[in-house]
Amino acid sequence: MQINDKFRDECGVVAVFAHPEAEKLAYLGLHALQHRGQESAGIVSSDGLSLHQHKAMGLVADIFTPDVLSRLRGTLALGHTRYSTAGDSALLNAQPIVVQSNKGAIAVAHNGNLTNALEVRGRLERQGSIFQTNSDTEVIVHLIALSKEQTLPEAMADALRRVEGAFSLVMMSPDRVFAARDPRGFRPLAMGRISALDGQKCDTVVFASETCAFDLIGAEYVRDVKPGELVVVGPEGIASQFYSTVAPQSSCIFEHVYFSRPDSTVFGRAVQTSREELGREMARESPVEADVVVPVPDSGVTAAVGYAAESGIPFRFGLIRNHYVGRTFIEPSQSVRDFGVKLKLNPVRSLLEGKRVVLIDDSIVRGTTSRKIVRLIRGAGAKEVHMRISCPPTISPCFYGVDTPSKKQLIAANKSVEQIREYIGADSLAYLSLDGLKRACGEGLQISYCSACYTGKYPTEIIDVEEILPASVRR
Ligand code: SF4
Repeated sequence: MQINDKFRDECGVVAVFAHPEAEKLAYLGLHALQHRGQESAGIVSSDGLSLHQHKAMGLVADIFTPDVLSRLRGTLALGHTRYSTAGDSALLNAQPIVVQSNKGAIAVAHNGNLTNALEVRGRLERQGSIFQTNSDTEVIVHLIALSKEQTLPEAMADALRRVEGAFSLVMMSPDRVFAARDPRGFRPLAMGRISALDGQKCDTVVFASETCAFDLIGAEYVRDVKPGELVVVGPEGIASQFYSTVAPQSSCIFEHVYFSRPDSTVFGRAVQTSREELGREMARESPVEADVVVPVPDSGVTAAVGYAAESGIPFRFGLIRNHYVGRTFIEPSQSVRDFGVKLKLNPVRSLLEGKRVVLIDDSIVRGTTSRKIVRLIRGAGAKEVHMRISCPPTISPCFYGVDTPSKKQLIAANKSVEQIREYIGADSLAYLSLDGLKRACGEGLQISYCSACYTGKYPTEIIDVEEILPASVRR
């Protein structure tokens, strides 16, 4: 059930090297990264000789029972939690992908989206490669297997030079863990360390999409894997190489606006800092006379805290979220207006009645949900509803690992801000400016971002399949 009109998160990856309970650390890491994908999850472990895997559809806590984990023993592990952005939502496409190749067994877990996957796949298929999945990640596996380079790290570097787009990868052979990011660093990937275990010294190296995974497993954040870097962790220690020439950094700014958890450090910057600053920037750019600042939970909460602090208008939880809404529900036969949204969000009448409300959210994608939420707030007696969005209008789809609707469905690509205001039924509507967004996320302070979904200017060459192919022939 999708009642939230949101961009969907992409995927979360985790890797563990040298820990007696590597599979459990991978499981806990995935649990912390569950917000990045809820369709399927998988863990592959290694006992130093062979790889053991388990993948299934569903949530991490449901898939990995104690019995399942007991069959994944080893000291190395990779984990992946998936929301499909390329390839169908099916077990077949769940990751990590494991293959036996002429370079031994390899497991690969990928966050991102390859922009030249169809082209490379077509070429590989003409050369005789047989694909098991329709996920773009499998292209990388075939390129590694076919590489003429002699060593596995060199074959990986060779493969990564042949793909384009967004990839934060963790990979594993029976005795090594590898981590790599695309040359533009679209998606995050952090490296951490655990140096003590039960009072004894140890040297466990971990990787994860977000540092919130480290907090749960007691790892310390060391640094990010750098754009264009391949890190190899093996019995001889840690080695690093840059497999690609430098490209301008284009890290996804939407990680700071929405995807990443506020308790994570992403691209070397605390998400909480950015998100609160988004609210402060909004309050400076688009002030309004009002009585309460109310977030759309959970995504609008931190920006609303910033807006309230900067404007001096009190922050109130005027919408309560029901966290226990399942994927299916039974609707009464006499249909209830806005049932889907009401099931998830309920307005607090005592806080809203007779009030002028500043309603804070992080995006308007199609506009349908915002319209229903504004109606809910008015229905609870609010006198005025002023909507503030903590990023610029979303006018273009993402090709770098985020599930977005096509341009035709993005309301801001087709309507002016005034038309959107009228559609959602707010008294006023304002989006944060692009400059305000970049300032809030620390652009220039050693980070430079992709903001293509707000500008339509992509950092790489893009062929929009939606625009040129009918739906029937799209993958
Ligand atoms: Fe992130 Fe938008 Fe760029 Fe996609 S297009 S990588 S969502 S900023």
